[in-house]
Amino acid sequence: MKLPYAEPYKIKMVETIKRSTLVQRKKWIKEAHFNLFNLSSDKVFIDVLTDSGTGAMSDKQWGAMMEGDESYAGSRSFLKLKETIQKITGFEYILPTHQGRAAENVLFSALVKEGNLVPGNSHFDTTKGHIEFRKATAVDCTIDEAFETTNLHPFKGNVNLEKLEKVLKDNPKENIPLVILTITCNSSGGQPVSMQNIKDVSQICKKYEIPLFFDAARFAENAYFIKLREAGYQDKTIKEIAKEAFSYGDGMTMSSKKDGLVNMGGFIALNNEETFKQCTVFNIMYEGFITYGGMNGRDMAALSVGLDEATEFNFLESRIEQVAYLGKKLVEFGVPVQQPFGGHAIFIDANKFVPTIPREEYRAQALAIELYIIGGIRGVEIGTVLADRDPFTRKNRYPDLELVRLAIPRRTYSQNHMDYIAVVLKNIYDSRAEAKSGYIIVDEAPIMRHFTAKFEKI
Ligand SMILES: *Cc1c(COP(=O)(O)O)cnc(C)c1O
Repeated sequence: MKLPYAEPYKIKMVETIKRSTLVQRKKWIKEAHFNLFNLSSDKVFIDVLTDSGTGAMSDKQWGAMMEGDESYAGSRSFLKLKETIQKITGFEYILPTHQGRAAENVLFSALVKEGNLVPGNSHFDTTKGHIEFRKATAVDCTIDEAFETTNLHPFKGNVNLEKLEKVLKDNPKENIPLVILTITCNSSGGQPVSMQNIKDVSQICKKYEIPLFFDAARFAENAYFIKLREAGYQDKTIKEIAKEAFSYGDGMTMSSKKDGLVNMGGFIALNNEETFKQCTVFNIMYEGFITYGGMNGRDMAALSVGLDEATEFNFLESRIEQVAYLGKKLVEFGVPVQQPFGGHAIFIDANKFVPTIPREEYRAQALAIELYIIGGIRGVEIGTVLADRDPFTRKNRYPDLELVRLAIPRRTYSQNHMDYIAVVLKNIYDSRAEAKSGYIIVDEAPIMRHFTAKFEKI
């Protein structure tokens, strides 16, 4: 019999989580204006809102924190982090930032101007937010297969090369400051990009002399999928694969809250000295001096260790297989989920789950709320609420997919928690015919409304 995967760690400390009653949850979610972001965490039993900054650090990381150097300039912890990032990514210049979107803010302040186009695979919401905030446009060139939730394409994060080339050909070079490749592609479901696609995108970018940047929040998970699914990579280590991927680009932004295995942090890494210099100015203005950029010395120390641990095969296997375990359970129960399963999350297809709720009534949001009410589980809507309004027409944008994301924090929950989530969803699924109406938005922010929008039940 083939041995099952098992976590390459054991538990040293536990944190209590509280169960609640159906009556309590109905009251709490109403008080939160039916926005799951408004719930305090003690009202949540299993929190799969995000895998961002919610993972458990190792004893080695906690140990490194004690050795953090809090010097304003030239912190040893920074130098160590710089060395680790250079070793793992191959990029020469490093700027720490307080998280991923801060890295985007700094980089785009240097590169993106009004009227520009920024093509790539599906841009993450903060990436898109930072592009649109500068009155520029994010052009989504993801392959069409990404939007068919049952299509088993192994690399649904891939860029459609023809779509990309058309954008680069039809527009003046000055109008396209960079191409962004998000690995894994969060917005299309944590789906990986193949090495071949990375190479092809890189070649097109070189042909049109446009820099290629990675939004690399989950670069290690992407490397794991390449190792498992792409010919020629079976015998390479995760570190070798990640480094090869980065070698085809000019730089990266990183949310260390994902594959950095820390609770807060980010960075920019790149090769072009001129761009680095421009970024330095904004980094000092927005983040802090260039050797800490919004991070504590101790946090940079923990990040160095985290990047090393996150790029080890055994860790990645247990992480990604745990996510797949939940996915397989849901498939067994007939619950419609996106396949193949993403690296960090399972995505429930609300269009198939509750077609009875009109799209204008935010069916995926309605399903996410039900998941909370029935099981105390906090997922997140990735659908019309998140897609926000068109910045020019101000009309609701209806994306192809209406999803509820269950993002699994790293090294945090057990297999029993996965079983619990699956059964709650099965029970909701069995009574889905009763769901007829959803919600209306009664209050929303002009940009990235999902964080603070208030809803009312119809
Ligand atoms: C989380 C994330 C970001 C933003 O990072 P923060 O640390 O949350 O600011 C950007 N891109 C991708 C792909 C992400 O997953």
